[in-house]
Amino acid sequence: MIIRCWGSRGSIAVSGKDTLRYGGDTTCLEVESIEGDILVLDAGTGIRRLGNRLKKDGVKTVHILFTHAHWDHIIGFPFFKPLFDPQMKIFLYGGRVSHAPVTDFVKKTMCSPTFPIPMDEVHATVESKEIAEESFQIQNLTITPICLNHPNGGFGYKITEDQTSFVFLTDNELNFSHPGGYPRDTYVSFAENSDLLIHDAEFCPDEYKATRGWGHSCYTDVTQLAIDAQVKTLGLFHHNQDRTDEDLDHILQECRNEIQAKKSSVVCTGVKQGDVFQL
Ligand SMILES: [Zn+2]
Ligand SMILES: [Zn+2]
Repeated sequence: MIIRCWGSRGSIAVSGKDTLRYGGDTTCLEVESIEGDILVLDAGTGIRRLGNRLKKDGVKTVHILFTHAHWDHIIGFPFFKPLFDPQMKIFLYGGRVSHAPVTDFVKKTMCSPTFPIPMDEVHATVESKEIAEESFQIQNLTITPICLNHPNGGFGYKITEDQTSFVFLTDNELNFSHPGGYPRDTYVSFAENSDLLIHDAEFCPDEYKATRGWGHSCYTDVTQLAIDAQVKTLGLFHHNQDRTDEDLDHILQECRNEIQAKKSSVVCTGVKQGDVFQL
């Protein structure tokens, strides 16, 4: 399994010299299976460049899994060029948020009067599948969804291929209780022994005093989760829009120091746009 990051910024896309290394596009990850099947996690602004790459490579089938319907996870969808390729088959997967499937909200990003081209004018074949909290297969990949602890709900995912597992928990608050979410220990069990855990690490402890309940985790809580779950690699994700590259380097160093102090073997990284993880 190969995981490529096309956007790791949270909340809103950013640009400028202070964010060149970690990047400014919002959530979009590509998962490529051993057989070459392409799964996409979320359609933040990063999906635009991924769409261009898929078009160039002649990929004709793609599966897009959505975590939830907040703007930063769906806003790039209308700019995904494979939508305008008549040979393209696009499968959309997501759970129910606010009494409607998340895929309904995705399609509404292409809706009058906020977007000029309606969804029924795209050329690709687009199918939506509503999923629940039970495992399903996409070719050789096993996908296990878990409810996120986040305002308006959503799903995190464990993706398993043979003995390899990748856990993606973005927009997940470990130290608070949102409707439909789980206590922290449930996420520890879910991520246990995974090869890669990519988790929302939006806030610093100081900020978190004022932002508790907003649906995002403090990086100290995420580090402890990774240590307790004994994951191989932890990727800090959903970087705050005001965080510079230098700020993120400091956060990463602090997490690494904590891991070392606790004598854990977790490898910690700050997920950058352009990163590739080969599991
Ligand atoms: Zn988000
Ligand atoms: Zn969110």
